[in-house]
Amino acid sequence: MPGEGVSFIAHGHILRYEEIVRIAGIFARLGIRKVRITGGEPLVRKGLPFLFEKLGRISGIDELTLTTNGTLLAPVTGRLGDAGVKRVNISLDSLENACYRLITGFDRLRDVHEGIDKAIEAGMAVKLNVVAMRGINDGEFVSFVRFAIDRSIDVRFIELMRGRYNGDFVRDRFLSSEEVYRRLCGEFTLIPVSPSYGSTTEKSYSVSGTAVRVGLISGVSDPFCGRCNKVRLMSQGVLKTCLFDTGGINLRDMLRGGLSEEEIEEKIKKAVEGRSEGPAQGKNPEGPGESELVMHRTGG
Ligand code: SF4
Repeated sequence: MPGEGVSFIAHGHILRYEEIVRIAGIFARLGIRKVRITGGEPLVRKGLPFLFEKLGRISGIDELTLTTNGTLLAPVTGRLGDAGVKRVNISLDSLENACYRLITGFDRLRDVHEGIDKAIEAGMAVKLNVVAMRGINDGEFVSFVRFAIDRSIDVRFIELMRGRYNGDFVRDRFLSSEEVYRRLCGEFTLIPVSPSYGSTTEKSYSVSGTAVRVGLISGVSDPFCGRCNKVRLMSQGVLKTCLFDTGGINLRDMLRGGLSEEEIEEKIKKAVEGRSEGPAQGKNPEGPGESELVMHRTGG
């Protein structure tokens, strides 16, 4: 998020839950099997478990997951579990109070811990998403793996990506997956394994002697565009076939404009067929140009 704050979008411009469910139904007919709700922070939206309940009833969708910062998770884990959410990714870049506060601007680390514990209690598979940042959390990688071992959860380290607001930051703080791997190898024996849940974007390792997996996501140093199979639906209805798409068709306008679901299906097919693959300026922290990527709107 930019430090000076963000401009809010008028409520009427945002997809209603019924619209999201209709669009998910169209995608299910096109062969999509997995839906992840991400953000911004998805749990700030009222009644999110209700959306999962509706999505869980769509024929063809067999996996529902959530990416959250974890601060609002604890009170809703029971309902999310009942709605069929079996996995949750929690974005957490520091385990130390002062560093967490520096990164997020909030004092909510205890709430995140509670969210993690409750999700585990509710039987969900928990994965921590840690963005590796030089000079900020690079002293904590080993602690993150120990934290994961103590709770039998997974952890993955993600390379910083350049977006519209963070060019200088990325230049100073970028740390490659290779370096994260080297540091972890000083403490643990990492055995390469196939990525869990068919992930096409991470290199996975099991930590010898434990049930824990460590993932490395190297979107910058070793791009995986050729294996990427995700599409994203933005809160205002824009379909992005790549994180770096600057355009995209608007499915909300099509629904509200009265297009039939078959017509929308055709538009989606065309957009996916014409998909571009990760423009270089978004992938190279040293490279020229400004990426249009705005993570607090696009989600992970
Ligand atoms: S840049 Fe686009 S195509 Fe490449 S991995 Fe990211 S979303 Fe997929």
